[in-house]
Amino acid sequence: MADDLINSFMSGPDENGRFGDFGGRFVSETLMPLILDLEERYAHAKSDDSFWEEMDFLWKHYVGRPSPLYHAERLTERLGGARIYMKRDELNHTGAHKINNVIGQIILARRMGKTRIIAETGAGQHGVATATVCAKFGLNCVIYMGSHDVERQAPNVFRMRLLGAEVVPVTSGRGTLKDAMNDALRDWVTNVRDTFYCIGTVAGPHPYPAMVRDFQSIIGRETREQMLEAEGRLPDTLVAAIGGGSNAMGLFFPFLDDREVSIIGVEAGGKGVNSDLEHCASLTGGRPGVLHGNRTYLLQDDDGQILEGFSISAGLDYPGIGPEHSWLHETGRATYVAVTDSEALAAFQLCCETEGIIPALEPSHALAHVARIAPTLPSSHIVCMNMCGRGDKDIFTVAKALGIEMLGT
Ligand SMILES: *Cc1c(COP(=O)(O)O)cnc(C)c1O
Repeated sequence: MADDLINSFMSGPDENGRFGDFGGRFVSETLMPLILDLEERYAHAKSDDSFWEEMDFLWKHYVGRPSPLYHAERLTERLGGARIYMKRDELNHTGAHKINNVIGQIILARRMGKTRIIAETGAGQHGVATATVCAKFGLNCVIYMGSHDVERQAPNVFRMRLLGAEVVPVTSGRGTLKDAMNDALRDWVTNVRDTFYCIGTVAGPHPYPAMVRDFQSIIGRETREQMLEAEGRLPDTLVAAIGGGSNAMGLFFPFLDDREVSIIGVEAGGKGVNSDLEHCASLTGGRPGVLHGNRTYLLQDDDGQILEGFSISAGLDYPGIGPEHSWLHETGRATYVAVTDSEALAAFQLCCETEGIIPALEPSHALAHVARIAPTLPSSHIVCMNMCGRGDKDIFTVAKALGIEMLGT
């Protein structure tokens, strides 16, 4: 296995922002100085204790960290095998992990003297988290969102507007997340002086994938400590859902050098990875290419055109995946699997009924894989999954998928 040759999986990326053959900075000459400036400012902040003290304070008092590590006893009993734990990041302010990262980038933006924050959003979760933290600090906030998503995600668009953000519908390309990210990059080049671009996942040109990973790693650091306290040892298996891959990188990163811990990322299999692109599994069903300033696995056709994926979960339908995941996949340090919409729906219902927790559809994909493997494992085996978001936003989608009509809708 290739990973025997690697001393540490936690040392990347290299000075060019590369994780093996992946990552890097594939950007125009006009964008390059912005990226280099950000890299320098982040490197400086990262080694400054007062930066992390400010993060810790906000994580604790504004986000509600640490999130609990919860032993799901009835689910464990129902599945009849491995002991199942959930990292409860759905309990964060705004209902998901996204705010962990937004807090970090906005503290950095403030230190850089920026007064205008821009972001892209797909389903609207990152847009809401960004608008939230901008409201808290009195910063101007502009959110780029595909016009198609603006229509599909009306409640999140309204939330962002309530929080004082301007939502810009993107009509270029096909009007989706990929196009929103391109427009945000263009805005950044045009408004360099006062603007900070806050990216929502471990994608984009270097230093974004590493920076977002560093901010989300609070999830894995807490899990490690809490697991040692609860069980006196590390978990045997970690499982997390993957859109761009930030909640997964956040959980996985602090465990990468613990080779005895097996690591599994779960992609959105939609109607099946063999179906005619009605899925969003970049690693399981894509191949390497360049998108949004980095080289990684992508959903693309034979001519290299980026394809739109499909998933019942709007938060998982990014056509790429963070470059660090592509590297973990190629080195064999992590394993990536796909879960279909119907498997995720079944896991969603199982979680509601056995644990009294309504999960978002994204972590329902991780849970579905837990439900596959737990019965095959002994009761001494500990599985920990990332419950990265709550399901309030998804109840209408679930009702529709189950063919249930809600009163008053
Ligand atoms: C946005 C989102 C995701 C997908 O993003 P990652 O960067 O892969 O974590 C997953 N789950 C929830 C709840 C989200 O809001």
